[in-house]
Amino acid sequence: MSVVVCKFGGSSLSSAEQFKKVKNIIEADSSRKYVVPSAPGKRFKDDIKVTDLLNKCVRFKEEPSKLESVFSLIRERYNEIKDILNIDINIDEHMNKVKKDILGGASRHYILSRGEYLNGLLLAAYLGFEFVDAAKLVFFYEDGRLDFESTIGAIHKTLKNIERAVVPGFYGSFPDGSIATFSRGGSDVTGSLVTRGVNATLYENWTDVSGFMMADPRIVDNVKIIKKLSYAELRELSYMGATVLHEDSIFPVRDAGIPICVKNTNRPQDEGTLIVPYIDRPDPEHTITGIAGKKGFTVIHVEKDMMNGEIGFVRRILSVLEDKNVSFEHIPTGIDTLSLVISDGEIAGKTEDVINAIAQRCNPDKIEVAKDLAVIATVGHGMSSSIGVSATLFSGLAKEGINIRMIDQGSSELNIIVGVENDHFEKAIRAIYEAFEG
Ligand code: ASP
Repeated sequence: MSVVVCKFGGSSLSSAEQFKKVKNIIEADSSRKYVVPSAPGKRFKDDIKVTDLLNKCVRFKEEPSKLESVFSLIRERYNEIKDILNIDINIDEHMNKVKKDILGGASRHYILSRGEYLNGLLLAAYLGFEFVDAAKLVFFYEDGRLDFESTIGAIHKTLKNIERAVVPGFYGSFPDGSIATFSRGGSDVTGSLVTRGVNATLYENWTDVSGFMMADPRIVDNVKIIKKLSYAELRELSYMGATVLHEDSIFPVRDAGIPICVKNTNRPQDEGTLIVPYIDRPDPEHTITGIAGKKGFTVIHVEKDMMNGEIGFVRRILSVLEDKNVSFEHIPTGIDTLSLVISDGEIAGKTEDVINAIAQRCNPDKIEVAKDLAVIATVGHGMSSSIGVSATLFSGLAKEGINIRMIDQGSSELNIIVGVENDHFEKAIRAIYEAFEG
């Protein structure tokens, strides 16, 4: 029997209208048994998310009049949904308690979590599902790390006896029972944990886009949606800056081989993106799956005659980075050359130090530092079995007059990474997309 866990993001639950869409989606498929809501998000461009309003409440907890003015906005949002949909719940009573707790000195974690808590109560009453407080299912250690084993155990034990439930996203509890939250966007993680805990067949992540785009839609017009993506590809693309899911939401389901489907609440008829453990036979029409990248890298270029034959050279260079506590992204090498590609944030304030230490420890012929590099990854399982992928990529960049400053092909043949000037970043992404999909 299939069991589906559905997580709905903030924009999917931002208003009564959105609540109706969610109910239709749940009722359209009886295997959708467990629902994980976020707090109400933005209804329009300049609207404020409930979690951001709660963040203001954290600041105003010792100023009752300022608190009241922000809290009344939160009150209006939940009351409006309740009134329009005629939901049978005394949400005011719950909100009064939250406000009292805030004035009584509640923690930041507690205050931020109440957006999901209140939305969960409202949604459970609207759907006729049981409300199960995430504080009783999701456990954190004192230092803020998730206690994965206890969490999965509690979810399994509790939900196996409940046919249909709403579990609010984004929070759980510390060992002393007080509320703990994930980092922002953490409802994705709750959804993934519930999926794993009930051993569901599918994790549906409902949002306001029809899936994972092949490239950033702010850079490429009319960009295509990726229909199918492996966990490994997702990891590469997310690491390089593509954001749809919270990073930590991948592991619980990936390790159990459960697929994720990213769907659009406003267009449920769209297929969305299916994220699967493996892709055996890549789609011959799409050699590449997606393109993502980041700006702001520094390159330390080192040259030394006969470097290739010098045993321990790379180790000595890397020991400098280790000593200075700097992590690197890429390390392309030639016969007598080596480059360290490091994000600006990592090397900030340490460049001189690192260079002096390399000079001392490795005795190179030349060291050069280049700044303002952007790194772009073109990702896809299809690459390993197709001839001419790099030719297409490089000629696409050449056609647009983009100078490639670094090339690195991942050892898994899952990606080709190029470094270009920061200023060429957007143009390069468009050129690569055009070369493969144009
Ligand atoms: N409401 C929280 C946020 O805005 C968590 C979430 O939506 O996943 O980050």
